[in-house]
Amino acid sequence: MIEYGQEDRQEISLKKAEKFRQYALDYLDAKKEVLTGFQLADNYAGQKERIKTALGASEREWQDWKWQLANRISSVEMLEKIFPLTLTQKKDFTTIQSKFRWAFTPYFASLMDPVDERCPVRKQMLPDIREMELTGVTDFSGEEYSSPVDNLVRWYPDRVAVHVTNVCAGFCRHCLRRRKIGEVDQATSADNLEEILQYLRDNREIRDVLLTGGDPLTFHTGWLDRILSALDDIEHIEIKRIGSRAPIVLPQRVDEELCEMLSRHHPLYINIQVNHPREITADSARALDLISRAGIPIHNQSVLLRGINDSAVIIKALNHELLKVRVRPYYLYHCQGTIGIEHFRTPVETGIEILENLRGFTTGLAVPNYIITPSGLGKTPLAPEYQISSGEGFVLLRNWEGIVYRYDNPGRSGEE
Ligand code: SF4
Repeated sequence: MIEYGQEDRQEISLKKAEKFRQYALDYLDAKKEVLTGFQLADNYAGQKERIKTALGASEREWQDWKWQLANRISSVEMLEKIFPLTLTQKKDFTTIQSKFRWAFTPYFASLMDPVDERCPVRKQMLPDIREMELTGVTDFSGEEYSSPVDNLVRWYPDRVAVHVTNVCAGFCRHCLRRRKIGEVDQATSADNLEEILQYLRDNREIRDVLLTGGDPLTFHTGWLDRILSALDDIEHIEIKRIGSRAPIVLPQRVDEELCEMLSRHHPLYINIQVNHPREITADSARALDLISRAGIPIHNQSVLLRGINDSAVIIKALNHELLKVRVRPYYLYHCQGTIGIEHFRTPVETGIEILENLRGFTTGLAVPNYIITPSGLGKTPLAPEYQISSGEGFVLLRNWEGIVYRYDNPGRSGEE
C-alpha cells in the first residue's frame, strides 16, 4: 500500500496526471520521426505506378497474387528497371545472389524508398554485401537436430512446426531459415507430407500444429485446404496455426475465396511478421481485415533488427499500428546468429530496454514477449526485472516507472 501523506487528493491526482501526460507527449514528439505506411500512402501510390510502367503491368495484373509471385524482383536486371543502382551495388547484388537467393514482390518494392538505403522496408529485402562475411551458423535454431521426420520440427511436448514449402513472397534478409530457401521454389513433397501426417496420427499428445515454411499462403487455395483437412481428420489436433508474411508482402493473396476456405478449418490462428510501421498500408489492412472477419485471430511476430526497428519508439508505433488493424503484437524475437545476418543483430539489452519502455507506458496488449531461440532449445522469454528481492512474507518490487515498494506475500507465509 502506497502512503500518500496529507496532500489533497485532487492535488495528487493532478500531479500524477500531468506526469503521465508528459510521458505520452515525449513519445508523441519522438514519434514524429517514425512514418507509418498510411502516412506514406501518396509516395507508395506514385512508386506503384512507376513500377507498373517499368514492368509493363496492368492494374489487373498488379492485383493478381499469382502475377505478383511470378514477377518477384529477383535479379539485377529486374531491379535496375525500378531502382537506380550504382555499379558497386550491381556487382554486390550479383555476388550475393550466388550464395543467398533474393526476391520480393513488386508490391513490396512499392513500399521501398528507391534511393534511400536506410529505408527500413528496403533493408529487409535488398541484399547487403555484409551477408558475404558469412559469420554465424547455418542452422542456428538447431532445427536439423529437432526433426524426427523431415520438415517437422519438434521443440516442445505438445506442438510441432511443419515446413510445407520453401517459397516466400519475399526472402527476408534476416530469415533464420535461409538455408531452406535453396535455389529454386519447392513445396514439401506429397510423400514427405504423408510421412508427417502419419507422425502426427501416431503421436496423440500433439495438439497444436504450426504450418510454416517458407510461406503456406503461397500455396493454391485447394492444396492448403487439403493439408488443413488432413489435420482436421486427426482427432487429437486441437488447433492449427499458419505462419505467413503474405498479408504484408503479398496482400493480394488474401481474398474472399481464401478466407472462406480458412474459415472452414477453425480453430485456426495466423501469425504474421511485421517489423516496421511502414509495412502496414491500406492493402495490408484490407487483407488483415478479411482474415479477422473470417474469425481468425492474428498475432504478430516481429524480429528485432539493427537499423530497422531497434528503438522503443519504432516498436511502440508499430504495435499501435498493429492494434489498429486488430493484430495482437505477440513476440519480439531477438535476431539470432544465422549465417550472413550478423549486421542485423542487436545486443540482448536493446530488446530488454525496449520492453522497459513499453510496459506501463502503453496498453498491455501492445507489449510483446521478447524471445531468444537458442539452438534446439525452444523459446526463452526475457524481460526487465521487476522483483528486487524477497523476504519472509514479502517481496520487494518496482513498478514500470521504477517506484520501489514492498508487497505482502501471503502465499509464501501461508505455505509454512
Ligand atoms: S517470410 Fe519468413 S520464412 Fe520467408 S524469408 Fe521471411 S522470415 Fe524467412
